[in-house]
Amino acid sequence: MTSTHTAQIIDGNALATTLRTDVSRRAVALKAKGITPGLAVVLVGENPASQVYVRNKVKGCVEAGMHSVLERYPATMTESELLARIDSLNSDKSIHGILVQLPLPAHINADKVIEAISPAKDVDGFHVASAGALMVGQSGFWPCTPYGCMKMLESIGYSLRGKHAVVIGRSNIVGKPMALMLLQQNATVTICHSATANLKAITLQADVIVAAVGKRNVLTADMVKPGSVVIDVGMNRNDEGKLCGDVDFEGVKQVAGYITPVPGGVGPMTITMLLVNTLEAAEREIAA
Ligand code: NAP
Repeated sequence: MTSTHTAQIIDGNALATTLRTDVSRRAVALKAKGITPGLAVVLVGENPASQVYVRNKVKGCVEAGMHSVLERYPATMTESELLARIDSLNSDKSIHGILVQLPLPAHINADKVIEAISPAKDVDGFHVASAGALMVGQSGFWPCTPYGCMKMLESIGYSLRGKHAVVIGRSNIVGKPMALMLLQQNATVTICHSATANLKAITLQADVIVAAVGKRNVLTADMVKPGSVVIDVGMNRNDEGKLCGDVDFEGVKQVAGYITPVPGGVGPMTITMLLVNTLEAAEREIAA
């Protein structure tokens, strides 16, 4: 018997366009008050993937009518040179957000560099002060990828209250903050990871599943409750070299109620939330 059910697709490109239009509108309003929101993107070394990411971040900023500088340094840059650069960006009035592209070369302690960014300019939301603010429910910057996932749930009018949300993955940049955001919206949250016994037994109970692992087919149709919402954060390559997520999209879309595609799902939302955070950093400066 073939299934005729197909999940509704949550279109990350369309939602990103809507949100970016709002960012542009708010940027115009700020400019009228004499402030142009500014993002500094710092890249150390020649990592090819990082070069693409930083270009897209700067491009996104400029398209939204914001100011953006890309600072590129050789892989030989020392930790103290980078810390000194962060220090001067912290006090640069034209810069509201600072992003240091990871990974950094091995001789630089990434934690130390992230902690050097002023929390008021931590638009990536990776500083311990930002993580702590999320944990205790204070205002701070939310990491862009899980923040984007929350916007996707919001876009379908999904109420998380009383729902069981299962997050697969517990990294500091996706899984853990994702779980805290879902909890803040009154979901009952389970976090799964590589040592989780019987993942399928847990995902089958989920109303919402966020897969953030980095492995193809971590989530297949037999692991999903009918009608559930499936958000795929993973970015992998299939056998043909094409971008794919953690979820078996073709199989799961026949069971789930909503699903995000890869590409065109969470990916476009991540940079969009960086633009939102940068804009908010500038707005908060006015309010301060
Ligand atoms: P990460 O730091 O490598 O974390 C992966 C997590 O998955 C870990 O917590 C790991 O568990 C868990 N895991 C590994 N194998 C598992 C398994 N078989 N079953 C259950 N859990 C398992 O990765 P990340 O930085 O969070 O990123 C996750 C994925 O999202 C990657 O594909 C990345 O490229 C993608 N990503 C996409 C965006 C975007 O904009 N679309 C942004 C960020 C990341 P342990 O903790 O036990 O090792």
